[in-house]
Amino acid sequence: MPLLDGFGRIATDLRISVTDRCNLRCTYCMPAEGMTWLPRADVLTFEEIDRLVRIFVSLGVRTVRLTGGEPLARRDVPKLVEMIAAHDIDDISMTTNGTTLAKHAHALRAAGLERINVSVDSLLRHRFAEMTRRDALDSVIEGLTAARDAGLWPIKLNCVVVRGTNDDEVVDFARLARDTGYEVRFIEFMPLDADESWSRASVVPSSEVIEAIDRVFALERIVRGTEPASVFRFADGAPGSVGVISSVTEPFCASCDRIRITADGQFRTCLFALDEIDLRAPLRDGRSDEEIAAAIAAAVERKWAGHRIGARSFVRPSRSMSAIGG
Ligand code: SF4
Repeated sequence: MPLLDGFGRIATDLRISVTDRCNLRCTYCMPAEGMTWLPRADVLTFEEIDRLVRIFVSLGVRTVRLTGGEPLARRDVPKLVEMIAAHDIDDISMTTNGTTLAKHAHALRAAGLERINVSVDSLLRHRFAEMTRRDALDSVIEGLTAARDAGLWPIKLNCVVVRGTNDDEVVDFARLARDTGYEVRFIEFMPLDADESWSRASVVPSSEVIEAIDRVFALERIVRGTEPASVFRFADGAPGSVGVISSVTEPFCASCDRIRITADGQFRTCLFALDEIDLRAPLRDGRSDEEIAAAIAAAVERKWAGHRIGARSFVRPSRSMSAIGG
């Protein structure tokens, strides 16, 4: 039975946060001092994640993405990739900040990971250090090279654009895409930052990003399935592509196929959900797969139409981005 919600959408894409921990302190995500990390006992074990994946696949999930915090901050993630890759799914990917990717790329590829998303918000060393509060751009670049060498492809770069901070780099990122064949995704800044400093004024609309690039490198739109990004190729045939994820200015909730599990086993039907259901307790107190599957299906049936950013009724979720996962 597919995971059908009340708006006729079918959930097929599962995002799994494997840890809330991270080695960076991105200003649009968490405070300088970090967060109070989950106690280890509260974090799902690999076996529990594997069992949940089996249940979700039985409900029609086809793609799995591993997220964090920073997923590679957790030990032995290639082992988990191997377990998940053994299921009947179409795609497994990961979103990482890339700082330790050079160490893990080959093991991840050997375990069955096919492609990777790396979060990079600036190509300038000093600005990267300002935005992440860590001087780690060099290690990210090493990680990208290792990912390519290992055969992880395509490589997508996720860049959160913040007005007055890194919006002057979008053309440089497009140039990097042309030089490398990477797919650069520009993400509108969303109100999920832990210190709640988000404002509408700090959002750079995707239309502005595309216009700025198109003035330098002519773009042609590529029509794709339900993925959140609107993607453009270079009209002159150069390698690579650019895309925009316009959650704030052009919401795409009407075609949403995504659902999430947090590192502590809470099921969220939406990134901005105000409620979640506990899957860890039923996993640990002997409930059957069927009982857990029924709880998941019931939650998806109740999934709301979408976030309400900009509406008077908008309420921030109680979790910040690092505790939900991308
Ligand atoms: S905000 Fe929620 S409903 Fe909308 S696209 Fe994102 S996850 Fe889906």
